[in-house]
This record gives sequence, C-alpha cells and structure tokens, in this order.
Amino acid sequence: MALIVQKFGGTSVGTVERIQQVAEKVKKFRENGDDIVVVVSAMSGETNRLIDLAKQVSGDQPVPRELDVMVSTGEQVTIALLAMALIKRGVPAVSYTGNQVRILTDSAHNKARILQIDDQKLRADLKAGRVVVVAGFQGVDEHGNITTLGRGGSDTTGVALAAALKADECQIYTDVDGVYTTDPRVVPQAQRLEKITFEEMLEMASLGSKVLQIRSVEFAGKYNVPLRVLHSFQEGPGTLITLDEEESMEQPIISGIAFNRDEAKLTIRGVPDIPGVAFKILGPISAANIEVDMIVQNVAHDNTTDFTFTVHRNDFTAAQQVLENTARELGAREVIGDTKIAKVSIVGVGMRSHAGVASRMFEALAKENINIQMISTSEIKVSVVIEEKYLELAVRALHTAFELDAPARQGD
Ligand code: ASP
Ligand code: MG
Repeated sequence: MALIVQKFGGTSVGTVERIQQVAEKVKKFRENGDDIVVVVSAMSGETNRLIDLAKQVSGDQPVPRELDVMVSTGEQVTIALLAMALIKRGVPAVSYTGNQVRILTDSAHNKARILQIDDQKLRADLKAGRVVVVAGFQGVDEHGNITTLGRGGSDTTGVALAAALKADECQIYTDVDGVYTTDPRVVPQAQRLEKITFEEMLEMASLGSKVLQIRSVEFAGKYNVPLRVLHSFQEGPGTLITLDEEESMEQPIISGIAFNRDEAKLTIRGVPDIPGVAFKILGPISAANIEVDMIVQNVAHDNTTDFTFTVHRNDFTAAQQVLENTARELGAREVIGDTKIAKVSIVGVGMRSHAGVASRMFEALAKENINIQMISTSEIKVSVVIEEKYLELAVRALHTAFELDAPARQGD
C-alpha cells in the first residue's frame, strides 16, 4: 500500500464532467488500496476571471491581501465539487482549504512561500480511510491571512504535501502525457522522456518549458520527492523526475532542448575599458529591478569595449532608457537594442561526462547557416542567442544532431 499525492490542474477539472472523470480515476486508485491525497487547481480560466474582476474594481494593482482572499476561492470550489463527486461514488472523502490543513506560509501575498505543513489532520483522515482533497495554490500566514503561492502554485502545493507526508510519489496530472525532449509543436519527432533528473527539469522549466511550476521542481529536488507528470485522461507511464542519474551507457548526452522568445538584447558600444565599468552599466539596471540573463563583454580594442546583455522583453524599453543615461555618463559611443532574438538551450546531465557537446551544437547550427550572437554555458546546459526567425530551424537541427528524434514509424 502506497501513499500517493495526486495533483490535477485546471484543465483536468475544467468542467463538471471532468471533475466526475477525476473522481472515477481517484476511486480506482483507492480501490487498489493506496492512500490518496488529491490537490486541485481552480477550474481552467477561473483564476484569470477572478483577477480580471479585481482589476475592474482596483485598476492594475489590486491590494495584494484582498486579491488573495478572492483568487483562493477558485480552488475552494473545485475541492468541494471533487469531494462531493467522490462521496457520491461511495468513496469517503473530505475537502480542506489551505487554511484548514494549515499550510503555513510567509506573508508575501500573491507569491507566498510555504514554511510548514501540519500533517496531523491529513494523517487522521487517511487512517480513517478517507480521500483527502486539498486546495492548491493557497495557504495562510501566521496572522491568519489567506495567501497564494503565485501562478501555477498548485504544483508546489502538491509537492509540498508529498514532502510533508513522505509520500511514495507525487503525480502531476495535466493535459500532456509527460515531459518531452522538446516542444512537439516545433519538432513532431519529439519524444516523451521516461525519466529526467530534477536538475535537468529545473533548467528546462527556467528556460521556458511550461509543464511544471519552477518552484515545485526546486521543492521536489530539495526534499527528494519522486515526481511524475502524467496525462489526466490517457493511460501511460508519464515522465518520472528523480534524483538519480543513470549510469547506463544508453544515457543520452542531451535530455532536452528548451527555447524561448522572451528575451531582448542590449549593447552599449565603446565604453572605456577600466575597472568598475560592468558595475556602472548593470548597477542602474538592477536598481531599476530589471533582471539580466546572459552577459558578454568583448576584449578591449583602442581602450574601449562593447558590453552586451539580455533582459526580459517586457523590460526592454525600461532597460534601454537606463542604458542611454549610463552611456551619456560614461561617454560611450551608442546603445543598440534588438528584440528579435531567441534563446535555444541544450540541457543534459550527460554533458558532465562528455567532451565536445558545445562544439557539436555549434556545428549543427553552422550547417544550417545560423549565426550565434551570444553563448553561455553551465555544467548541464549550453544556451545560444540567435535571430528569432531561425528559432524553429535551430531547434529541429539540434534535435536531430543530438539523436533525439523518435524512430520513424511505418508510413512516415
Ligand atoms: N489556479 C492557480 C492559477 O491558475 C494555481 C494553479 O492552477 O496552479 O495560477
Ligand atoms: Mg496549473
């Protein structure tokens, strides 16, 4: 007998019919003898609807505390509906809000962090044979204020409950059947991964793969909670996310290719090559609360140098203004910006034990005549910035070069 935490996302509980289907599924697991804790999101679209209501009254910046009181209602509806659907099927069940469990968080409204989970009530219910249905995305601070964990936060609730209860597995049910080598809409030959490590999944999530909330993966890694991503309504093993790296020879060098179009590039040209210049350039950027991702500074020539970095596209205009000021102060030649870039990254723990991975990446891009504008590397990732219009070509070329393409089926 196992203890399993099952999290169902918004599309999986998006209609009453789907909630009934989820109840059937949970019932089957229960009949197998497993103890089940279910975490649900709000019905799809509901959180957006609530935020929109708040904005109609408060403008763009609703009071964070009140916004939490409101958006937490989305999940309160789905836990009750699912508990009712289970009871109707003869499965004893009980629903709890975050406050009722006591999922204690800090007081950072709209982006709270979980500090502690009281597991007593849940354990007592499980012992009494009940399925426990818990509202995702929400908690309570030490003063009794309702808090929420940030968009997509139900994943984190699921993982945190699994950690607190030392569950055998945390299953994340969603509208895809697992984690893929890359986005199948871009590369039809993309394959579902049987397994991926927390580290790799974290990179994939930070780089733009939207399957799991980043924080839930961090949490799972920290507490070593085995995590599985599965399709809500299709049978299949899904993708297991774990700590261990396979020692086997078949371990692919690259597990996946991530990409995004979220960034923009800024270059300040002809800045004096003297100590403190990087700080003078990036200090005001960070003071403006703008996050910098990749950075390149070129070798000086005539005692001046060019300095390039990327920011989120939403921050481009603000960053450009800050940089124009800095350029005037430093007597730099000019500021140039480019929003038509894309970042493509290869990710894999296999890189640690294989040389030449980056050059294989560059070779594949060169063969397609794709110019690389910036490069950054870490232990398990190589990222490049390229012109946006080549993004799909680049991802396809890399997918093939690293032998990730699914074998052709008959008739293909
Ligand atoms: N309902 C929340 C959201 O839409 C939390 C979640 O779905 O995980 O962001
Ligand atoms: Mg979600």
